[in-house]
This record gives sequence, structure tokens and C-alpha cells, in this order.
Amino acid sequence: MAVDLLEARGGGPDRAGFAPYAASEFNSLGRQHSEPPDKFRTLYQRDCDRIIHAAAFRSLEYKTQVMVNHADGSFRTRLTHSIEVAKLSRTLSRALRLNEDLSESIALAHDLGHTPFGHAGQDALDDCMKEYGGFEHNLQSLRVIDKLEHKYANFRGLNLSFETREGVLKRCPKEIAKTLGPLGERFLKGGSPTLEAQLVDFADQIAYTNHDLDDGLRLGFLDLEEVRNLALFSRAYDEAEKASPKLSRHALLHEANRRMITAMMEDLILATEKRIEQVQPDSPQAVRACTERLAGFSAELRAELSSVTRLLQEKYYHHHQLAQATGQAVRVIRELFRVFMDRPQLLPTELHQRAHEKKAVRSEAGQARVIADYIASLSDRHILAEHRKIFDVARN
Ligand code: MG
Repeated sequence: MAVDLLEARGGGPDRAGFAPYAASEFNSLGRQHSEPPDKFRTLYQRDCDRIIHAAAFRSLEYKTQVMVNHADGSFRTRLTHSIEVAKLSRTLSRALRLNEDLSESIALAHDLGHTPFGHAGQDALDDCMKEYGGFEHNLQSLRVIDKLEHKYANFRGLNLSFETREGVLKRCPKEIAKTLGPLGERFLKGGSPTLEAQLVDFADQIAYTNHDLDDGLRLGFLDLEEVRNLALFSRAYDEAEKASPKLSRHALLHEANRRMITAMMEDLILATEKRIEQVQPDSPQAVRACTERLAGFSAELRAELSSVTRLLQEKYYHHHQLAQATGQAVRVIRELFRVFMDRPQLLPTELHQRAHEKKAVRSEAGQARVIADYIASLSDRHILAEHRKIFDVARN
């Protein structure tokens, strides 16, 4: 019906100027549970809306990107990061005549499986889950949209389109891929996701590289002179300084940052366009059949970008002030996991019940998975409050 409606208006994705290799409701591999199409929204617009209405999306607001629960609200969180990635993804998709709505839905969902406390939290939870199948945030994002969000009458999860789910699943070990049906196939036989999904990965990289440079400089963890040694940044900075020599440091940094984002976006669009021209895919299926990805930066930009990444790794992600917060994150997650395993009655009632049922069917691993899902779902603030509540009571 939605398709009829769009066609009646003279619209419809293909006629709206989409490239033949763009994903659309006409070539979608559909939803797991079939549903009548929406009257007004396209397939992927509806995916976006379902993600935004998910509890896991809301808790991104207080989940760490790099800085743990910083008092100054001007630093990035997973929520603002996801919004930046969604905006960049839409721009990339539009420039390449791809489906903007699909790239937005993948971008909005790409970090839903992250634990509190960023990568330190993920590593700590993975360690707790070592004997029970481990924990990986990207697989968890799929688990959130497929299983954990549970509020629709006719299915578990959000029942998103195949293309959104395919885009969210960036990595997958073979043993798990075998259990995922068509979604796992590319991890077993080789192949690529849609171009929309490929571009979201790069939008993610453009977003975090630039916002981490910005946050790192503002926090004083990164030194401007050092950052100016990076070719990619210094070109943007010099250009900005030349155009407006009297700018304040604050405005100059912003000018440099936005120019660097533009340079990366332009490079990505042109280099991807070149590869598309060489391969000439005529459908999303033809894109999926490519063993090498079509989206990507030029070789020159890749080389420049690797120096930026190296600096961020050394000076920002491993800064000693962050290491302190990391230590606390690891301790909080370990202690909570252990106490919930020993005393599952401390879990919220509904989860206690589920942990009990899972333990009966799948022994300890079932209970551990319920606990990992719960811990992963908490924001930085929520897990600290939970930890205080349980351990302060225990101490008194
Ligand atoms: Mg991300």
C-alpha cells in the first residue's frame, strides 16, 4: 500500500533519482515478521522511528563515548555521536544517490549495544562473560534490535528490515554467523553489505576522528602543536587561519575541524564514486556480491588518517586521567556482575525471573547472559547508582 501511495504521488524511490544499486522497498529482503507497509513512511523511515523510540536509544544519552560521565555537557556522548553519524551518513548517501533513510537507520542503531563506560566497559564485561560465550558490543547491537527491545504485540525486538540489521552487524565470528541464516552468510562465504551500510562505517570514523580531536584539544589532553603536525589537520587549520587571521583560538579550531570533515567527506565520495564506476553494480545484490568493499577513502587520505588515529590512541584514549576512570569502570562492572551471579534476587524483578528461567534451561550461561544484557543496557549514571545502592547497603 505504501508503494502504491508513493507511486500515486509520482514518487517512489527509483523515480526519486536513486541509483540502481541503492536499497529500496522494491528490492528489500524484508522484515523477519511480515507486516503491512505503512501508509506514509518508507520501509527505512519506519526503522528509524522504531530505533528512536527504543529504550536502548534513550540510554545512549548518558553513555560514554570517551569521557566518562563528564560534568561539562559539551563533550560527546554516544547519543550525540550517533546523531552526528546519522547526519554524515545521510549526506554521503544523498551525494551518491543512495537511500538516505536506510543509512540513517543503520547509523542510529550502530552503537545500541555499547556498555556503559565505553571500550573499558565492553572489555570488562567481555572478561566477566569469558566462560559464557563472551560479550561484543557490535553483536549486542543486533541482539538489542532483534530480541531485547520487547514492546510490540506481534514480535520480539523491533522487527527491522533486513538491510538495517545487515548494516548494524559489522563483524561476526563464524560460529555465530552460522546461526543467523541469510544475515550471517557474508561472514561465511565472503561478500559485502549494501553501499549504504558501508558508508555508515566511514561516517562513524569521520565523526569520531573529528569529535575526538575536538574534545581532546578542548580538554587539554591533546597539544595543538602536536595536532598541527598531522597533515590532514594542518591543511585545514592553515586554510582557516589564512582565510580569517584574526579568529579566536576557539573559532579557529572549529573552522579547522569543519574543513577537515569536509575534506574527508569529499575524498570518500570521490573515491567511492570511482570504484562504483569501475564495477558498475546494477543492484544492491551486485554490491553484496563484491568481496572487496566499494566504499572507501583514497590511498592518500588513508595514510594521513592513520597518523591521526595513532595520535588519538596514544595521547587521548590512553591519557592517564582517563585511565583512572577506566579502573573504576572495570571494578564497578566486575563487582556488579559477580554479585548478580551470586544473588540474582538483587536484579530487577522481571530480570530475576528471566535469569531463573534461563538458568533452568541453559544453566549458568543462561543466567550470565541475562545479567550481561542488563549491565550493557545501563548508562554510566545508572550503573554507578546501581552499584552504590547494592554495595552501600551491603556495607551498612
Ligand atoms: Mg560509533
